[in-house]
Amino acid sequence: MNKPAFIKENIKLAPFTTFKIGGPAEYFAEVSNLEEIREALHFSKKANIPYFILGGGSNVLIPDDGLKGLVIKNNFSEIKKDDSRLIAGSGCFLSKILAFSRLNNLSGLEWCIGIPGTLGGAIVSNAGVKDKSISQIIEKVGFIDNNSPFLEIKYLKNEDCQFGYRKSLFSQKHWIIWQIELKLKEAEKDKILQEIKNYQQKRLNQPKLPSAGCVFKNIKIADLDSRSIEKLKKEFPEVEDLLPSGVIPAGWLIERLDFKGKTIGKAQVSPEHANFIVNLGGATRDNVCVLIAFIKERARTQFGIQLQEEINIF
Ligand SMILES: Cc1cc2nc3c(=O)[nH]c(=O)nc-3n(C[C@H](O)[C@H](O)[C@H](O)COP(=O)(O)OP(=O)(O)OC[C@H]3O[C@@H](n4cnc5c(N)ncnc54)[C@H](O)[C@@H]3O)c2cc1C
Repeated sequence: MNKPAFIKENIKLAPFTTFKIGGPAEYFAEVSNLEEIREALHFSKKANIPYFILGGGSNVLIPDDGLKGLVIKNNFSEIKKDDSRLIAGSGCFLSKILAFSRLNNLSGLEWCIGIPGTLGGAIVSNAGVKDKSISQIIEKVGFIDNNSPFLEIKYLKNEDCQFGYRKSLFSQKHWIIWQIELKLKEAEKDKILQEIKNYQQKRLNQPKLPSAGCVFKNIKIADLDSRSIEKLKKEFPEVEDLLPSGVIPAGWLIERLDFKGKTIGKAQVSPEHANFIVNLGGATRDNVCVLIAFIKERARTQFGIQLQEEINIF
């Protein structure tokens, strides 16, 4: 079948990820507008091959032998302002929307500083920090359902997006998030800048080496059985300080399981932040997966805790 000229073959994916891991995509298309995404989706349908959407590649781990099918790199990053609303393309990097909102005296995105993903990727996982998440500023999400014959944009209101801790309806569907309406608040420039600096300060211990951010979701204490909590209290009495918050940071547990600095091949549990696995240079997907498996096994056998990955492993 005829392949549109903008769809390339055999393109290495590692450079498109923050982990710098991943072999070639069989087919690879960078799309910046509706016409291109529709053409790319038509191609995958006609060629009967799967498609994968890539935003900033900051929450993915891609196999070393690459991906069969079509990888669609989303570059749709137009931003429009309508009073205190922003209408933004899903391929827009959070850093770009933050800069745009700051210039326009709009507050609500300050916490995004340092998150290297796109708006689309952030909505899929309901990205956030301790007290904030993207769902708090979303009004409407426009998406494309590949099964609809005309590939038209459909819209979901915030309350229909099933946002939860690091999840949304979009993490269960194979839809393409396309355009988003965000509701921000007017604020003074200096106040916005100060907030950005405050959040930036909290990232000072964030590892600088290539990674995909936090590997595991934090642990909800309500999900643990009483035996797990008793074992934790016995071995690490300081867990008592965390109980009122209802959450045990995964990094807190991994550090106490003595994984900080542990290395498999060229993948290492960061000595700076135990919930980050970093690429020391030349790490493979298998190196990372073996580390993940060791950590999960120890958490399970020692404390009966089932850690859940936050990163998307392909
Ligand atoms: C240094 C560092 C710090 C980080 N800090 C944080 C943090 O504080 N909080 C946090 O929540 N996360 C954090 N992350 C993780 C990551 O940046 C976020 O999850 C981000 O929102 C992912 O966006 P992305 O565009 O890179 O998604 P990608 O990694 O490209 O994709 C992630 C998943 O979303 C899907 N996807 C992407 N775009 C679309 C779309 N338009 N439509 C449908 N599906 C799509 C992909 O198919 C994939 O399954 C951090 C990562 C790094 C490397």
